[in-house]
Amino acid sequence: MSILRVQGLSASYGTARALFNVSLEVAEGEVVALMGRNGMGKTTTVKAICRMIGSQGQLQFDNQDLHALPSHRAARLGLGLVPEGRRCFRDLSVRENLLAAARPGHWTLKTVGQLFPRLEERHSQYAASLSGGEQQMLAFGRALMTNPRLLILDEATEGLAPLIRQEIWAAIKRLKAETGLAILLIDKSLKEITQISDRGVILNRGSTVWDGAMSELGPDISEQYIGV
Ligand code: ATP
Repeated sequence: MSILRVQGLSASYGTARALFNVSLEVAEGEVVALMGRNGMGKTTTVKAICRMIGSQGQLQFDNQDLHALPSHRAARLGLGLVPEGRRCFRDLSVRENLLAAARPGHWTLKTVGQLFPRLEERHSQYAASLSGGEQQMLAFGRALMTNPRLLILDEATEGLAPLIRQEIWAAIKRLKAETGLAILLIDKSLKEITQISDRGVILNRGSTVWDGAMSELGPDISEQYIGV
């Protein structure tokens, strides 16, 4: 069953249209990669889903029309976003950052700490004193603390040191294997997303141009729309 269904989505920044016709679906327990070259509309699609910008078209989460809900209600339905550029409260400790996001469910200080031991070791440190990679883990942990039904990862490994990237990929793989959480994944590392995703959706100039099983993504399509 689909947890997220986006159909014919369009959106603009002022008079500049960024999305024309985006369609994608994520089923329960599925990992879906959202791909495409820079500027093709991936982050804008995520912003529209999370109701951070206005949009037109069909936007259904858990069979509810997201457009009909105020954005704070939409967040409470269970959309967990790890945004591009790791946002957390710099003047709060790691523990306080995590607790500020907490809603009841599987994910608690303890279980997030098990997934990211590096965060647990730094519970009492200020977020501002963490490395970039650790702040990214904290943003990831905060999204989990909301106990989402769909986790959206927008370039969660962008610009990080190789070791931290590996730790984040390992965490995503564990989430998939152990919890079956539905995930919408944006990342530049085609190798990693090919390994972990069940299906992929490719955007080109604000529209969906390909949608299929990751195993069916051939070199021609990759070269044409992703640039590898
Ligand atoms: P990237 O991989 O570079 O993040 P993307 O696929 O996520 O790319 P978007 O960031 O969604 O692409 O951008 C889609 C289009 O919308 C681009 O043409 C971009 O220039 C434009 N755009 C994005 N953010 C804004 C904004 N805040 N104001 C105006 N135009 C924007």
